[in-house]
Amino acid sequence: MPDTLQKFLFENADIRGDLVHLDATWQIILEKHDYDPVVRKLLGEMMAAAALLAGTLKLNGRLTIQIQGNGPISLMVVECTGERTLRGLAHAVDDVSAGDLPSLVGDGRLAITLEPRDGAERYQSIVELVGGSLAEALENYLQVSEQLATHLWLAADQQFAAGMLIQKLPKSSGRGDSDTWNRIQQLSATIQNRELLQLPPREIIHRLYHEEDVRVFEPEVLSFRCACSHERVANMLLSLGRKEAESIIADEGSIRVACEFCNHKYEFDSIDVEQLFSQTITTGSSSTRH
Ligand SMILES: [Zn+2]
Repeated sequence: MPDTLQKFLFENADIRGDLVHLDATWQIILEKHDYDPVVRKLLGEMMAAAALLAGTLKLNGRLTIQIQGNGPISLMVVECTGERTLRGLAHAVDDVSAGDLPSLVGDGRLAITLEPRDGAERYQSIVELVGGSLAEALENYLQVSEQLATHLWLAADQQFAAGMLIQKLPKSSGRGDSDTWNRIQQLSATIQNRELLQLPPREIIHRLYHEEDVRVFEPEVLSFRCACSHERVANMLLSLGRKEAESIIADEGSIRVACEFCNHKYEFDSIDVEQLFSQTITTGSSSTRH
């Protein structure tokens, strides 16, 4: 089964849904980093969540979910682009004991950033981490920040990462009363982690909602892709400044930068650095990027 984002809609009820199932994408992330099982589970849930949220927000750009805190897991970042590519990483201490979200992340904040591709303004919203799980924290975020009533179910193991979302459409036409929303929530809540991880999205929809009028859309394919590039690292060196770059060359012989997301290594020797800074000398330092 390919990695997919499966959207569906309850006809005449103004309720939408998304299911995401990650296999190869998730395996690539796990090959690149040797995460502790507890960290792995939370990161997998966040990968699924990023795809779900990117599916709900009509965004032709990049969505980033970031959690930062003072607990054993200090940072977690996942991105999903408009092309439905994903990447993610986590920073954590060596041994993380299983626990609820507050015990893993500590006092933390949840930030969601939307970067439209058309150059429109970047939008970021930050809320306190509230709730015992990532799903609850995101439900709270969507309620507080977007006024969207949403329920999320997230699961991850060594093989798969998966999730499901149901959401009341913001512009309610009056179709579908609170009874319908309650009924759909109750049906959805019967989903088991095992089913989310193992069953194809269409089968889950059938199992949960076979008595409802559900429209199922064409699935979208998800994949891993890292946004790092030689050019981005070069820009980072430019912002570091010539003096600093040359001092690293003097000490180390070359500048080596590894991408934290994909482990790709970029190397700049003295000739590269010389070229990099001589190219930009005529246009000034800060106005050359963008
Ligand atoms: Zn990379």
